[in-house]
Amino acid sequence: MAPDKPSVTVGKGEKKEEVSEQRGSSPKEEPVIRDELDEGKASTNKTSPEMAPDKPSSTARTGSKKENVPEQRGRTPKEEPMIRVGLSDGQASAILIADDEYVVRDALTGQGLDKFAGNKMTTVTIQGRQLAINGKAISAKSIRFSIADSRTMRYLSVAGKKYHGNIVLTLAQDETITVINEVKLDDYIGGVISEEMSPGWPMEALKAQAVAARTFAVYSLGLHDEDGYDVCATTHCQVYGGIASESPEGLRAVSATRGEIMTYQGKPIYAAFHASSGGMTAGSEEAGGIALPYLKAVRDPKDDATPNQNWQVTTSAKELASDLASAGFRVGTLKAIELTPLKLGEGAADRYPSGRLKEIRFIGTAQTVVVPGPKFRWIAGLPSTLVDIRYGTENKTILNEKGNIEISGPNTVIVFCGSGRGHGIGLSQWGAKALAAKKDYREILSHYYKDVEYSFLF
Ligand SMILES: [Zn+2]
Repeated sequence: MAPDKPSVTVGKGEKKEEVSEQRGSSPKEEPVIRDELDEGKASTNKTSPEMAPDKPSSTARTGSKKENVPEQRGRTPKEEPMIRVGLSDGQASAILIADDEYVVRDALTGQGLDKFAGNKMTTVTIQGRQLAINGKAISAKSIRFSIADSRTMRYLSVAGKKYHGNIVLTLAQDETITVINEVKLDDYIGGVISEEMSPGWPMEALKAQAVAARTFAVYSLGLHDEDGYDVCATTHCQVYGGIASESPEGLRAVSATRGEIMTYQGKPIYAAFHASSGGMTAGSEEAGGIALPYLKAVRDPKDDATPNQNWQVTTSAKELASDLASAGFRVGTLKAIELTPLKLGEGAADRYPSGRLKEIRFIGTAQTVVVPGPKFRWIAGLPSTLVDIRYGTENKTILNEKGNIEISGPNTVIVFCGSGRGHGIGLSQWGAKALAAKKDYREILSHYYKDVEYSFLF
């Protein structure tokens, strides 16, 4: 499902035409990459650990129960929290319909405003500076549509897509309409999981993904408060497509882990995940965030079926200098590159403990610049920062073995060769798929998130 804001997705830095890699043929085979830690996504630093609220949000009733035995749950039913998912901002109008009778209320006062028959379309626009329902201006600044009889399995649709829960339309400061889906947490996760992981994958991997996605959602509650909702429906938070995004397998994984989240010291963790680690995950500090005790670099199973395991990005000395200049790093003519050769799981002055780039040094005729690894990933369009360099001519390149790459001319070929895809932090989806052959979902999660506890929100 395409996110509403392609610009956000593109922030992943995948210049696909420049990246030669072995990808799965079906897009579903490649899970969506979590890249919220990376610098390249302009507005995404909200979710980096250093910026993130360390409070568990008020709606996240965590830590009060530490039941480790799944069979015990359900005995202490707690109310399932609602989450406000921003479906779109900046709309001039919104069109709703439902497959049963539905009502609209003032979202602030709860006062009933109107009632509509099933299958009857309602258009909300802006008139003057007010919301208008079917052409009639109203004073309410925020209105909530819901199915009249909430016990029925009937749903509202907005912009042609069907959703669980309510649809809230809010008049934003800039006199546009913000469209929000108020939905129960696990109904939301049901509309997320199959966007993140192929329903055809092993059930234990899907369950691990469900718990990670739920934990991430709880951690993110309130992230978009200033926009009037908790999370957005794009890769910035998690891609969510409502009922159309559900799959029977995904829903099974969600209900098998109903309400379950990971906590550390009683608080929901920052459950980052990514497509493929390339053999070793990254510590949370490796993408510019702070070191979180539960997000450390760990070995990841090598899975030969992983389409992202090895990749190459080819450029020339001239092109590279130009890309660097566009990003504000003007070196003049590139003369040399300094980078410690990659050894998986070995740090260096310019490499993190997993081997990922911490920084890379470019020596040019104008000046020498040192570019932080995560930033360089975006500049060069690399799938990950677990990377080394080959260089030479079109016919023959040699591997960086000395840490000092001499550039003989503008046409010198530079090949970035690396493995993995995404920031590398937390759960590796392809790794989880491989681990699922022998491990259950909690063992998979505990492989990627250290010393976490499992608790049930509801
Ligand atoms: Zn977001």
